[in-house]
Amino acid sequence: MGKKGGKPFIVLTLGKGWFFKFTQTKRETPNSRIKTVSKNPIRNGKAQLTQEHFRITRLKGTERPHSGELCSIYDEGQYNCVCCNTPLFDSTIKFESSSGWPSFTQPIKENAIKYVKDTTLGMIRVEVLCNTCDAHLGHIFPDGPEPSGLRYCINSESMVLDTK
Ligand SMILES: [Zn+2]
Repeated sequence: MGKKGGKPFIVLTLGKGWFFKFTQTKRETPNSRIKTVSKNPIRNGKAQLTQEHFRITRLKGTERPHSGELCSIYDEGQYNCVCCNTPLFDSTIKFESSSGWPSFTQPIKENAIKYVKDTTLGMIRVEVLCNTCDAHLGHIFPDGPEPSGLRYCINSESMVLDTK
């Protein structure tokens, strides 16, 4: 046996543990790398968000007027936050404002929306945010129809329409 018999013996003493460790490392390294990149965003519900969603909701951006898909849609349903899916507005309170952005006269519930004074662009405006996740939605203006007299001017990209 001598030297030649030594080799298989060493492999046997290393045993299954070595084999599985080796094959696992080989199989799992690429997978675990993918997981560390995508696992958390998917759990947070952010993986489906596009760059445009992120720009508007997190960087307080504004979409181009008349560019949003929900601008000209009047289907029955709820308008939910694109980031956390909290209901924000209802189709029954949507109206055509000709502004180029989806417009509502009031939120679906009083505490669905958070209001913050916005003094950027040399104007004093009231910013409208999702009260659950702080996503930027748009602004509110005092030129809406009665009875509230308010116009919630909301980026189409900050909402998803749930038609039930
Ligand atoms: Zn939200």
